[in-house]
Amino acid sequence: MRRIEMVDLKGQYLKIKKEVDERIADVIASAAFVKGAGVELFCRNMEQFLCVKHVIPCGNGTDALQISMMALGLKPGDEIIVPSFTFIATAEAAALLGLKPVFCDVDEDTFCISADKVEALITERTKAIVPVHLFGQNADMDAIMKLAEKHELFVIEDACQSVSARYRFADGREGVSGCMGHVGCTSFFPSKNLGCFGDGGAMFTNDDNLANVLRSVANHGMEVRYHHDRVGVNSRLDGIQAAVLDVKLRYLDDYTRARQRAAEFYDSAFMDVEQIKCPVRSADSAHVFHQYTIQTERRDDLKAFLAERGIPSMVYYPIPLHLQKAFAGSGFKVGDCPVSERLAKRVLSLPMHTELDEEQLEFIVSNVKDFFA
Ligand SMILES: *Cc1c(COP(=O)(O)O)cnc(C)c1O
Repeated sequence: MRRIEMVDLKGQYLKIKKEVDERIADVIASAAFVKGAGVELFCRNMEQFLCVKHVIPCGNGTDALQISMMALGLKPGDEIIVPSFTFIATAEAAALLGLKPVFCDVDEDTFCISADKVEALITERTKAIVPVHLFGQNADMDAIMKLAEKHELFVIEDACQSVSARYRFADGREGVSGCMGHVGCTSFFPSKNLGCFGDGGAMFTNDDNLANVLRSVANHGMEVRYHHDRVGVNSRLDGIQAAVLDVKLRYLDDYTRARQRAAEFYDSAFMDVEQIKCPVRSADSAHVFHQYTIQTERRDDLKAFLAERGIPSMVYYPIPLHLQKAFAGSGFKVGDCPVSERLAKRVLSLPMHTELDEEQLEFIVSNVKDFFA
């Protein structure tokens, strides 16, 4: 059996090596390292793939969040509602801009924020909501968009883990992750569902004006060269990363299906294991399984048991944001987000990637079952 990895980037690369190597060589030969036709080409292809008007490249997912907050004109002191159970980048970008992150507890089944929990946190100073489509499944965007409209709030989707996940609104309209709010953010970090060979990110929007501002903020506040309309940042996707992404975009649906097949294998194997809570599928959203995350009371023991047998697993995330030292000044305390606090003790993400074969999956589930037997 091949060694089991949390993420098998090498195995994935070897299958498309020829195409990727050629495209990288083309970039080197053309010396279009930053900006250039290759980056434009990838963005246009991604726009078509997602059916969104604008894909705006940037340096990474964290930058995408920060640039979005800047482009929407959020000001120091403005409140922004973010989940307490997510990766820090979401709240970090807000804090760096002097915004006040207001931590919203998540739903135990979906790991995402819901409209009723958000609504309880809205004040006069609230300007935006950041739903994070955690682990690859969309938050309840129908209710969140209606709530945002009612209170005139911006919605910045954090789609760093959920790129391409479809969603169905109550009226039957189809949406896709990151393209439903005012702006969506994604990351092309190597281990993400669409990953490059370094850092990369993008923002999605259907709003032409906002697209111009996002482009300007990402480029030193500049539309005409050396004319700076606003204070911006320098955040770019480079040509080599765009070349890799343009090749992998064509395989993204296949990659998603491979993840979903692995998830189904886990689901059916754990159906009769009472001590495990499997990921709950939302009725309105596809799940692209960035992570397959179970919940169990005996999380730490299970993790150690698996490690001894050569099976990696990870805790995403061990400390909810409202209890991180970095946010000690935010006024939140233990007990403020009880679901997130409980999840932090119970979640365990199992190996999930595009290259898992049946033998590996069988080995993982039989060991998990042995532990609980
Ligand atoms: C990965 C990730 C980010 C940050 O993306 P980077 O490209 O690493 O900056 C932000 N939010 C979530 C939920 C993520 O998973």
